[in-house]
Amino acid sequence: MLDLIKLGEKTYYVASPVNVGIYLLDNDNVCLIDTGNSKEFAKEIEKIINANNWNLKFIINTHSHADHIGGNKYLQNKYNIKIYANKIESYFINDCILEPSLLYGANPPKEMHIKFIEADSSCCEDIANLKVEGLEVINLEGHSKGMIGVVTSDDVCFVGDAYTSKKILDKYAIQYVFDIENYFNTLNYLKNTNYRFYVPAHGEVEENPTNTINVNIKNIEDIEKNILKIIYNGISYNDLLKEVFNLYHIKINIVQYHLFSATIKAFLSKLENDGRLEFLFKKNEMFIKIIESI
Ligand SMILES: [Zn+2]
Repeated sequence: MLDLIKLGEKTYYVASPVNVGIYLLDNDNVCLIDTGNSKEFAKEIEKIINANNWNLKFIINTHSHADHIGGNKYLQNKYNIKIYANKIESYFINDCILEPSLLYGANPPKEMHIKFIEADSSCCEDIANLKVEGLEVINLEGHSKGMIGVVTSDDVCFVGDAYTSKKILDKYAIQYVFDIENYFNTLNYLKNTNYRFYVPAHGEVEENPTNTINVNIKNIEDIEKNILKIIYNGISYNDLLKEVFNLYHIKINIVQYHLFSATIKAFLSKLENDGRLEFLFKKNEMFIKIIESI
């Protein structure tokens, strides 16, 4: 069985590649924070629930990515329960085809209809409809459009994918980010909080995550600097992608291409908003060029 680790009087998490939170609502009933990456994982969570004679009351998803909602459908059917997420994320959980569609920008090719990106859809509601004593929802948007964190009455903060461990960053070099500016704002916001424990979905639980958050901030700053260097003299969009993939030793396939190029596009939007680059169109090709400061 997976390890169940107690972090407070009512707060537990299941340690796994995607950490899942369990909060005790009363003596018998619990809620989950995320459900892992698959039906098989959900069955492992179910074993833990049964072993403790708990009853599952509802699920909160921090965001709609497949590795956080993969157990939703199984658990919803099994326990006949509601699932809650931020409103915009709930659309993606209700219709999981939207995730590969967002990445691809149209009807996705068959290679993108995979469990890694497209979970089974489940019925999800706006978390604004949920009021539970002992749980506070905080806005952690950036990694995805409407990501939330959950703070429990034990002062434990489940941060979803607001940041990841140094080990994972070293391995993958570039994390998926939807909105760079809000991602930054969220990291700085978390740095100024002082909860008892922080539980990232991917990484170790820490009492003080400042160093880990700083590593994530530096990672984003480095990618931005490298993109600015690459586009300095003007470059076509396709060449920019190739240069970034080569620089970070990313081996692309159709899925990786769309995941990483989405994040690079997020950087381009942010830099354009900052007035630091412009998009140009020459001979039917899109170019990106830096705007020299005067
Ligand atoms: Zn995610």
